[in-house]
Amino acid sequence: MSQTVLVINSGSSSIKYQLIDPATGDGIAKGLVEKIGESEGHIQHKYGDAIVDLHEPVADHEAGMREVLRLFDEVGPNLAESHVVAVGHRIVQGGKYFDGPALITDEVRGLIQELCALAPLHNPAHLKGIDVARELMSDIPHVAVFDTAFFRQLPEATATYALDRATAEKFSVRRYGAHGTSHQFVSTRVGELLGRSDLRQIVLHLGNGASVSAVDAGRAIDTSMGLTPLEGLVMGTRTGDIDPAVVFHLRRQGGMLVDELDDLFNKKSGLKGLTGNNDMRAVRLMAEGPKGAERDRARLALDIVVTRIVKYIGSYTAELGGLDVLTFTAGIGENDADLRREVCERLAPFGVSIDADANAARSDEARTISTDDSTVRVMVVPTNEELAIARQALTLV
Ligand code: AMP
Repeated sequence: MSQTVLVINSGSSSIKYQLIDPATGDGIAKGLVEKIGESEGHIQHKYGDAIVDLHEPVADHEAGMREVLRLFDEVGPNLAESHVVAVGHRIVQGGKYFDGPALITDEVRGLIQELCALAPLHNPAHLKGIDVARELMSDIPHVAVFDTAFFRQLPEATATYALDRATAEKFSVRRYGAHGTSHQFVSTRVGELLGRSDLRQIVLHLGNGASVSAVDAGRAIDTSMGLTPLEGLVMGTRTGDIDPAVVFHLRRQGGMLVDELDDLFNKKSGLKGLTGNNDMRAVRLMAEGPKGAERDRARLALDIVVTRIVKYIGSYTAELGGLDVLTFTAGIGENDADLRREVCERLAPFGVSIDADANAARSDEARTISTDDSTVRVMVVPTNEELAIARQALTLV
């Protein structure tokens, strides 16, 4: 077996993991621990045809990680024989410190901790994963791979908010972006597939979380997520762009507290807030359902989603000074042919045209869906954040 990397994504009450062969891109084994700290926990481990599901309380991240290592021992593959050369940790917020992966030392750990103020839901949860994994797998190098790193090179003009300078500096308020690992992976893949490094690209990462980036010759020059992943496109449960004065209004008129507003904007809005469901497949079913208020709400939600995407494509095309490739990725981008068609139809006045059959064909492969005479090449490129993390981790060991 060649070298492998164990990728860990530690959340506040979950740990997702995957053992990957970075050379082939194969996922050798994967699983997740859910509902850590709750009365009824869940652990799933998949290796080959074996799927093990355990329903048992998992007291904390350490207990969860110990169970994962036990499952590797009992179900396989044996980690000691898997040539694990690195553990790659996904970290949401790297702030101004990290423009690439970093070997986790005590100093790097300290910086990730310092950045908890900017990502209070994510970075503390990542630290729990880092701490137990470093303790239990102390003989393997651990590497932090940051969601923000690809956007560390954003031009000042797109990274800086027009907020009072002193306040912004004091509280580190600027646009850090997110989903950078995916945007970098996909835009690099497009360049490789087309054999060009000078492309002006827009990447649409459309999943439950959604973001768009403008990439010029490999460098990100703009992206839709900002200080946090809340800004930008309409998402499963997030508002995306909204007038910040809505916060003042709801505080003053509705008496809502900061945590309630955070919850409302991040967890109860977007598709969920507009239709009652955050899952795009469910929203599509509602939009095709019987005439009535539910169908109207779903259709309006889809219209809002598509309009927001088109708005970003227009502005990013202008920022890039033209567009060579528009790429769809992630759960919705890769699978929802209707959404791709709806977006591209709105771009038809600018000469964008897609082939209906190519768009409708289902495939796990990267592919072009535009017609030969389209002014912009339109592609669907599956993202693979775990593989991207594994490959980045490997560069440091
Ligand atoms: P992700 O966060 O990348 O896993 O993407 C999750 C989103 O992809 C959810 O909103 C799913 O409903 C959506 N999705 C997955 N498959 C399809 C599909 N065939 N058609 C429409 N949406 C899909």
